[in-house]
Amino acid sequence: MAYTPKEFQHVTYLWDDAVADKLDPVERLRYRSNLLGSDQRITNTGGGNTSSKITMPDPLTKQPVDVLWVKGSGGDLRTAKRGNFASLVMDKLLSQQAIYDQAVTKGAKTEIEDAMVDLYRHTVYNLNPAVGSIDTPLHGFLPGRHVDHMHPVSVIAIAASADQEALTAEIFGDEVGWVPWQRPGFDLGLVMEAKQQGNPKLKGLVMGQHGLINWADDDKACYELTLTLIEKAARFIEGFDKGAKTFGGQKYESLDEAARTLALLRLLPRLRGMVSNANRFIGTVHTTDAVLQFVNSREAARLAEVGTSCPDHFLRTKIKPLYVDWDPRTETFEALLDKLERGLAAYRADYAAYYETCKHPNSPAMRDPNPTVILIPGIGLIAWGKNKSESRVTAEFYSLAIDVMRSSEAISRYQGLPRQEAFDIEYWLLEEAKLKRQPPEKELARSVVVVIGAGSGIGKATAHRVAREGAHVVCADLSAEAAQKTAQELVGVYGLGIGVAGTGISGCGPAIGLGVDITQRASVQALFEQVVLAYGGFDNVIVTAGIFVPPAKDGHIPDEKWAQTYAINVIGGYLVADEAKKIWQAQGLKGSLVLTTSVNGAVAKHGSVAYDTSKAAANHLVRELAIELAPLVRVNGLAPATVVEGSSMFPRDRVISSLAKYKMPFEESESTEALREKLAGFYAQRTLTKAPITLADQAEMAYLLSSSAFAKTTGQIISVDGGLPEAFLR
Ligand SMILES: [Zn+2]
Repeated sequence: MAYTPKEFQHVTYLWDDAVADKLDPVERLRYRSNLLGSDQRITNTGGGNTSSKITMPDPLTKQPVDVLWVKGSGGDLRTAKRGNFASLVMDKLLSQQAIYDQAVTKGAKTEIEDAMVDLYRHTVYNLNPAVGSIDTPLHGFLPGRHVDHMHPVSVIAIAASADQEALTAEIFGDEVGWVPWQRPGFDLGLVMEAKQQGNPKLKGLVMGQHGLINWADDDKACYELTLTLIEKAARFIEGFDKGAKTFGGQKYESLDEAARTLALLRLLPRLRGMVSNANRFIGTVHTTDAVLQFVNSREAARLAEVGTSCPDHFLRTKIKPLYVDWDPRTETFEALLDKLERGLAAYRADYAAYYETCKHPNSPAMRDPNPTVILIPGIGLIAWGKNKSESRVTAEFYSLAIDVMRSSEAISRYQGLPRQEAFDIEYWLLEEAKLKRQPPEKELARSVVVVIGAGSGIGKATAHRVAREGAHVVCADLSAEAAQKTAQELVGVYGLGIGVAGTGISGCGPAIGLGVDITQRASVQALFEQVVLAYGGFDNVIVTAGIFVPPAKDGHIPDEKWAQTYAINVIGGYLVADEAKKIWQAQGLKGSLVLTTSVNGAVAKHGSVAYDTSKAAANHLVRELAIELAPLVRVNGLAPATVVEGSSMFPRDRVISSLAKYKMPFEESESTEALREKLAGFYAQRTLTKAPITLADQAEMAYLLSSSAFAKTTGQIISVDGGLPEAFLR
């Protein structure tokens, strides 16, 4: 190794023998992969792959066979587990060269090359279901027992430079060779094998416009070699860094943080609406110093047009971002919106032209022509994806591309992949097949649902229900702690996803928890501001928050309790709608609002006059709002009846007094849940359907009302009460 562990300055040496030596060979590969993937300077999320050739017994003959363990298709090194690695019997894999050689037409992007991918399944060792990626032959045909293929910023900077071959020789001498850009596949494996056989001293190869691949016969040595080569490249580049003159120097001055946040709050919902004209997108704001240096620079416009270089990058970032030339200090917000509108129209036309020029007779249909990366001076980078994880990955990739451009422009001239090559990756039939294999998008995919009251009861159940339909969920509650707990449960179920990017709350996962007091307009406004910064906007709002104030012993409800009941059950719902309206209108996208009312709004009875009249008012609020928010937003009411299960409205005392009131036998020693069940059973008997009403029943209707199933319904109150004739609306 050229450096001792402590000498690395541009990567972090993490290998620990005490950990690695306890692991079997496959786990050591997993360990090595996780270490490499944990550093974005070494490889990007989802990018690169690792392998080990391990001798193992054949499951039938028990004879030792050589098995190639290699990161499978669609995996991510940072988060990879053993199950993410494919295993192929080496002899079988290598024997496939005979099939390839027999083809009349062969080489990169030929039919036989794509056909080889299907044959890998015939080489599987021990029925391992993990599928090998298109990079598998690179690992199979190179000689080292261990191979790392990474996408390091410092090496891509060389690989994306105009004089990449000469730079490779200058930096690495004869220990690392160079191969020109070629779409990964069987042929590239053979090209690399030939390169290595022509110079057996080679330890690695710089892959033009792509990355690095290197190998060793010992896994720790392979890890150290990977780090060493990346460090070497980074040290070389450092000597040429242009400092303040990077990207031609500064053209625009950044807004200060407060002004930037204000601009984002106004901008994001507008922008989300603009890019979502075909499909809805979820946003991620990424505003690091490096990003700001780029967007504010003189050469940002030129370099943005060159596009991203690494094929892994532009599957997410598209071939290029949309850069908007706007002076944050002297131009108005309206001018920015105008430039964005025109920039987006030009971008879409450009994309359609690129598709028309580059398409083949069998190419898949053109995909969404909107940009996924938008660069604005003074503000930063805004990425868009079909979900939060995708949008974070996109932001990560472009910010890595900025690092690559900075380095490449320091040592040479940065160049992108030729458009046709970019197209042949973006519209690769194998990629299309992968997309087609994905399950169809769920009902609430690409949307953000704000559930107010998500800390407990119906709200919590609703948060879980809409998450199951693919929604990003903002869990809001008077208790921020309870809201965060629900959000954590959701993240626990659905995972944070991949992608390391997002400034502040924008770096969040598929759910967040926030506190809100819906009786205070400022609090509601602050809630929606956080949602906008986190996801770029929102689609549906469901309010389940409410209050039931029991009367005093004399049956009287104190005046201030009347006021509190109305403040929460009526005015709260209005304030939420009124503040949400501003963002719905800015987005211009269809949305839905569900307010929770109650069957008590229609049934007059003793003992709950404040609650019942407030719910009657809420019913009418639904109708008024349905008119006010049409045609953009549908507004409907969910009217539950006595849900006793897990409800904060039924504390033990209320359950006991109700049981006593209805003369139901019970013991003081019984648990609250047991008592609630008893009461729920009693209530059930009063309904037409004779079954207890659960939180899940209510959550189902809150979800359905928000979904396309009720696309033509607005201004309606739907009772979920088991059937109470006295509550029939008429
Ligand atoms: Zn790669």
